[in-house]
Amino acid sequence: MIELKFKDQVVIVTGSSSGIGKACALHFGSNGAHVVVNYSSNEEAGREVVEEIRSNGGSAILVRADVSEEEDVKALFAEAVNQFGRVDVLVSNAGLQQDAPFLEMTLAQWQKVIDINLTGQFLACREAAKQFIAQDQSVNRNAHSELAIGKIVLMSSVHDVIPWAGHVNYAASKGGVMMFMKSISQELAPYKIRVNSVSPGAIKTPINKEVWSDPDKYKSLLQLIPYKRIGTAQDVAKAVAWLASDDSDYVNGETLYIDGGMTLYPEFADNG
Ligand code: NAD
Repeated sequence: MIELKFKDQVVIVTGSSSGIGKACALHFGSNGAHVVVNYSSNEEAGREVVEEIRSNGGSAILVRADVSEEEDVKALFAEAVNQFGRVDVLVSNAGLQQDAPFLEMTLAQWQKVIDINLTGQFLACREAAKQFIAQDQSVNRNAHSELAIGKIVLMSSVHDVIPWAGHVNYAASKGGVMMFMKSISQELAPYKIRVNSVSPGAIKTPINKEVWSDPDKYKSLLQLIPYKRIGTAQDVAKAVAWLASDDSDYVNGETLYIDGGMTLYPEFADNG
C-alpha cells in the first residue's frame, strides 16, 4: 500500500494559485494533507487548484490573502485553524519580480518586491511559529514523539547567492530570505520547529515566461544550466515535500538548491 506522507497534516502554501506554489499544493494534496490554497488576486485560478486537489480525492480550501498585509496573513492562519483545527506545515512561497535597471528603479518597484518577497515571508513564518507553539502547548507534551512539531519551507532562489543585474530588488529580497531563514531556524529549533529553504534555478512557470517562450532567450538560458534542461514546478515541489517531511527531521537552517547545477559556475566548465 502506498504510504501517504502527509496524512491529515494541515499545509498552508502561500501563492499557490500558479507555478511552483500550485505544484506544491497538488503534491501535498495527493499525499494526504489538508491543503490551504492561498491566492492574492486570481480567485479563479485558486479555485481550479482546490478543485484539482478534491477531484484527486484530496482535501483543500481556498483563502485570499496578500502576504505583505499583516491582517491578511493573520486571517489566513485563523481560517486554516478554523477549518482544520491546526497547522503542521507552512510553504512560504509567494513572490514576484518587478525588474528595472538599477539606475531607473523606482522606490515603488524596490518596495513592492521587498514587501512581498521578504516582509511577506516574515509575516507568514511568524504566524506559523506562533501557531505551532500554541497548538503544541494545548496537547499533552508526553504524547509527543521527538519529531518536529512544525515545519517551514521558504521559497528562495539561486539569486540568494548569484548576483543579478537588472533585478537588484529581487536578488536583495532572496539574499535577505537566506539570512532570515537561518536566523529564525536557530531561534525556533529549541521549540522543535524546523525551518529550511529551497532555492530554485530556472523553473518553467509564469514568472519567467518571457524567457522560456522565446527560442533565442531559451537557448542562452540553457548555457547557464549544466544539466541542460529547464526545471519543472514538480522538481521543486518534491524537494519541498522532503524538507517538510519527517525524512529530513535532522535538517535545520539549510538551503537546498534545485537548479540543474546553475550555481556550479558553468562558465568555468571549459574556461579559466
Ligand atoms: P508565479 O508567478 O507562477 O507564482 C507566484 C505566486 O505568488 C502566484 O500565485 C502569485 O499570485 C503569488 N503572489 C504574488 N504576490 C502575492 C501576494 N502579495 N500575496 C500572496 N500571493 C502572491 O511564479 P513562480 O515561479 O511559481 O514563483 C513562486 C516562487 O518561486 C517565488 O517566490 C519566486 O521568487 C520563486 N522562484 C521561482 C523561480 C522560477 O524560475 N520560476 C526561480 C527561483 C525562485
